[in-house]
Amino acid sequence: MTVVGLDEQARAAALENVPSCRSCGADGLKTFLQLGQMPLPDALLRADQVGGHEPRYPLDVAFCPSCSLVQILEEVEPEELFVDNYLYFSSFSEGLLRHSREHAFRLIEERELGPESLVVELASNDGYLLKNFVERGVPVLGIDPAPDQAEAAEAAGVPTLREFFGADVARRLVAEGRRADVIIANNVMAHTPELNSFVEGISILLADHGVATIENTYVKDLIDHTEFDTIYHEHFCYFSCTAVDELMRRHGLSLVRVEHFPALQGGTLRWWVARTDAIEESARAFLDAEKAERLTEFGYYEAFGERVEGIRTDLLELLRGLKQEGKTIAAYGAAAKGSTLINYVGIGRELVDFVVDRNVHKQGLHMPGTHLPIRDPAALLEDRPDYVLLLAWNYKDEVMAQQPEYLAGGGRFVVPVPSPAVV
Ligand SMILES: [Zn+2]
Repeated sequence: MTVVGLDEQARAAALENVPSCRSCGADGLKTFLQLGQMPLPDALLRADQVGGHEPRYPLDVAFCPSCSLVQILEEVEPEELFVDNYLYFSSFSEGLLRHSREHAFRLIEERELGPESLVVELASNDGYLLKNFVERGVPVLGIDPAPDQAEAAEAAGVPTLREFFGADVARRLVAEGRRADVIIANNVMAHTPELNSFVEGISILLADHGVATIENTYVKDLIDHTEFDTIYHEHFCYFSCTAVDELMRRHGLSLVRVEHFPALQGGTLRWWVARTDAIEESARAFLDAEKAERLTEFGYYEAFGERVEGIRTDLLELLRGLKQEGKTIAAYGAAAKGSTLINYVGIGRELVDFVVDRNVHKQGLHMPGTHLPIRDPAALLEDRPDYVLLLAWNYKDEVMAQQPEYLAGGGRFVVPVPSPAVV
C-alpha cells in the first residue's frame, strides 16, 4: 500500500483511526493519498482576519474494497463547511448554465412534465436550474441551506426550503402530500456526509414512476487525469458507477442510465436513477467497463499519490523558473479547487502576486492558508502579469475566451493538471 508522506509509525497510527465506509459501513478502508493539514477550502479571509487563527484539518483519501467508494476520512461539521462564508453562486458560470438548461428542457419533454408535476432540486443554489422549469410552468421546489443563495433563488421565482436534505426532510414533504416526479441533485451527493440518509431521502420523496438525475465528477477522470485539487473537505466522496449502483440498490433504487460529460468539471457523470429494473445499455456498459478496467480494486488508485507529488515538484520548478527570469505571475480562480492546489503545492506571495475571480463576492478577500489577495479579472489588464496560473482549469476554454486582450498582449496561461504546462 502507498501512503504518501508518513513514516511507518505515523502510518500505523493513521490506519488505526480509519473509520468505516460512508456508504456500506464496512471496515478495512485503504488510504492512498495524504494531502497534509489543509485549511477549509472556501474559508476566504477578510483583510482583518489575515494572520488570525485558521483551523486546519488533515486530508486523507481512501478506497473501500467492499463497495468501491473513494472517500476522505476526516469529517468537518457541514454547518462550518457550507453556510458561513459560502460564496459559490452557480450563475457565475456560463457553461454550467447552458448545461443545466439543456437538461431541464430534455426532462420536460422526456418525462412529459406539466402544471401537475413537481421537480425538486437538492442543493438548488441560486435557482440557476429550476428557473428553467418555472419558465415552462412546471412547479418546483429548491432545497438548499445556504441563506444568500436561497434568497437569490426566491428572487428568481424559485421557492426554496433552507435546509440540508435527508430522510427526515423527505418524510416531512411526503406527509404534506408532496412527491417528486423528478429529483435533481447536481454536485451535491459528494458533499453529503450522511450519504445513506441522503439517498434514502431521494427514495422516499421520489414518486413511484419518477426519476432522479444525479451529477458528480467521475472518480475515473479524477484518477486518470490526476485531478487531485478536486479533493477537499467539502467533497466527502468520489464516485464510480459501481459505488453509485451499490448505494442506490441499498435504498430500493436502480441505476438505469449513465451519461458522461468529459469536459464538465474535469469529467462529470449524470446517473439516472429510478424504481425499476429496466436498466439501459449505457448503465450496463459503464458497470462492465469499470470491472474490466479494475476500478473496483485498490490497485487502480495506489500510484495516484506519487503522481500528485510529481505535479507539486514540477509546478514549483516551473513557477520558480519563471520568477528567476523576472516574470510576474497571477492566478485565476478563487474556488475550493484553487485553495487545495496552492496550499498543497505551497504557493504564496513569493511566487504569485494575486488571484482573480469573476465572483464579486470574493473580490477583496484573501485565499485560505496562503493569503493571496483576490481581485477582479480586470486586474489582468491593469497589472499585465506575464503568466496566469489557471487554478480554474475546469473552465479553461471559458476563461481563455474571456481574456482575448490579455492573450493578445502576450500573456500566457499555466495549466497545473494533469501535468504543469504553459498554454
Ligand atoms: Zn464501502
